[in-house]
Amino acid sequence: MNKWKRIVVKVGTSTVCHPNGAPNLKRLDMLCRTISDLKNQGMEIVLVTSGAIGIGVNKMGLQSRPENLADRQAAASIGQCELMRIYDRFFLDYGSLTGQILLTKGITEDKVQKKNVIATFEALLNMHVIPIVNENDSVATEEIVYGDNDTLSAVVAQFTDADILILLTDTEGLYDSDPSLNPDAQLIRTVDDPDDVESLAGGVRSSQGTGGMITKVHAAAIARRSGIPTIVAGGRNPSILYDIAEGIPHGTYFRAGKD
Ligand code: GLU
Repeated sequence: MNKWKRIVVKVGTSTVCHPNGAPNLKRLDMLCRTISDLKNQGMEIVLVTSGAIGIGVNKMGLQSRPENLADRQAAASIGQCELMRIYDRFFLDYGSLTGQILLTKGITEDKVQKKNVIATFEALLNMHVIPIVNENDSVATEEIVYGDNDTLSAVVAQFTDADILILLTDTEGLYDSDPSLNPDAQLIRTVDDPDDVESLAGGVRSSQGTGGMITKVHAAAIARRSGIPTIVAGGRNPSILYDIAEGIPHGTYFRAGKD
């Protein structure tokens, strides 16, 4: 029996891509299969995905992310198509339909556009379609950019009134010190108030994505303001979503007050 009905799952670039930026097909396949199966069990799932820029850079045969904004936005535009093509294909294999929603901070902060996008999420979920969300990196400019999908996924969790936000990443959760520097670092299982652990998250950066642990802690704080708990867990094996759906502990659980 699943504990949650409506979940937002966010996967970062280091989960979606190999270190060279090429799509990690085995993992993406597993992710789409697990999400489809959970949907078949009656859950409603929104997927927030990074990887557009990484995949675009790889597809164009570039060595690294372009410095120039227009070139980076071009890479995002190329990569977003490829990302959706891969998702659409895997999800179709498992009998799921997808709908793409590309957001900017401008849209989510505008009253009318926000109302419309909330209605679109609701319509897609009612149709048993899996909304796949990313920031619209090709049009977002510095003043109106979220810049990291952790924050964006917390906003999506609020918009969809999700039961939980699940951030899958390249570490197993939040540690009491940086696990890449300290082999004795201990995983923190539960956090009551994200503000209490902000200092622990400061230096820990993701290997490929824009965010790091700090943006995840901030995302948990945003979700908590709407009474939504957050889990930060390792994304290496996306089938852990089965456990998480049942309430089996994984990674770090950020309480939201009532739980
Ligand atoms: N939206 C960016 C992308 O798809 C990723 C942002 C992030 O790493 O959080 O490449």
